[in-house]
Amino acid sequence: MYWNPAIERLSAKELEEIQERRLKALVNTVYDYSPFYRKKFKEAGLHPSDIKSLNDLPKLPFTKKQDLRDTYPFGMFTVPLSQVVRFHASSGTTGKPTVVGYTANDIRNWVESLCRALVSCGVSSDDIMQIAYGYGLFTGGLGFHYAAERLGSTVIPISAGNTARQVELMRDLGTTVIACTPSYMLYLSEYASEIGVNIANDTKLRAGIFGAEPWSEETRRRIEEKTGITAYDVYGTSELSGPLFTECTERNGIHIWADMFLIEIVDPETGEQVGEGEKGELVVTTLTKEALPLIRWRTGDITYMESDKCGCGRTHPRIMRILGRADDMLIVRGVNVFPSQIEHVLLQIPEVGEHYMIILDRREDGLDEMTIQVELSDRVSIDTTSDILNLEKKIAEKLKSVLNVWAKVEVVNPGTLQRFEGKAKRVIDKRKI
Ligand SMILES: [Zn+2]
Repeated sequence: MYWNPAIERLSAKELEEIQERRLKALVNTVYDYSPFYRKKFKEAGLHPSDIKSLNDLPKLPFTKKQDLRDTYPFGMFTVPLSQVVRFHASSGTTGKPTVVGYTANDIRNWVESLCRALVSCGVSSDDIMQIAYGYGLFTGGLGFHYAAERLGSTVIPISAGNTARQVELMRDLGTTVIACTPSYMLYLSEYASEIGVNIANDTKLRAGIFGAEPWSEETRRRIEEKTGITAYDVYGTSELSGPLFTECTERNGIHIWADMFLIEIVDPETGEQVGEGEKGELVVTTLTKEALPLIRWRTGDITYMESDKCGCGRTHPRIMRILGRADDMLIVRGVNVFPSQIEHVLLQIPEVGEHYMIILDRREDGLDEMTIQVELSDRVSIDTTSDILNLEKKIAEKLKSVLNVWAKVEVVNPGTLQRFEGKAKRVIDKRKI
């Protein structure tokens, strides 16, 4: 049931002691071996001896993606390249790629983290795992590969794409667990049914570990309904090593291994820590990474934290499903709102279609006003004005309960809202115009 029971069930106090000891060692290491961090500390008027306990964490400067770009390729490494055993790199679609290096210990710790996670969602040496994340510079394929082999599972290193082969091998080799993006799983099940293969009845697939892109509870429901499997969420970024953490069988948040990673949730605007259960940007300090340690790394991912004990018995804190990116956050009447939350509410209402727009404006009295235009689904027929008004009221109430702020809802006819060929731009913020 546990991969590392001694560590996974440590008390909060024991975990804090480990974190404090490792944090102090970390700030000394980066100060001594990384010109980048030494300069940053000096600019902040900070010496490693100023970090005496976990309470001093907010004194430390943040590290951002731009820092990795500015020091490309190795400027933030704290070990000589002779100790680096592997590189991974981001795709670099929006500029220079970022390069991550690993020592042999870094690889071992990455595997340890993902092994704990996989066992927590029920994967064992009896499983046959089909790894349909890309292999190569992307961390998904090799990350899962090493961890699954370490567990003793049987690995099918098929990598991404070639859907016909995926379905064929899934059936012939008896795959029980698949790891891929959630959108690929939806595509794969669609393709399978087109060629007459019903994943629920014709294969042994029982679970999927999905991530590398934001997805919603609604998508989880659709995957599970179509395939009969249990879908688990995975989190990790290449800068932090790769896929590292998953939900446990309770499926109530993703355990972050606190002996290896120190997490905070901060207000993305001010950088101040927010309280437990409050939404904000996930900030991670790596406690055991050697080649590329990161201090207060701004992930850009919005979530919230729970540290009460989980039903699975693990004591490490949990983050909830990623709600969106910090860059996408809207502030409406002082409340943080994410377009992904709005989409999640809308998609649960059967009468509405897939297309919507969010319009923000400022009233004469200075208050923000949010209007959400949404198309009526073409699968329902509602035509009386009172039915439309009732539907608008129902949507507005559901939104209020999730967002904690009122929105005006306008239901429009199918096909009337703008369509997007590339990345959809669904927010019009007239307050900035
Ligand atoms: Zn748990």
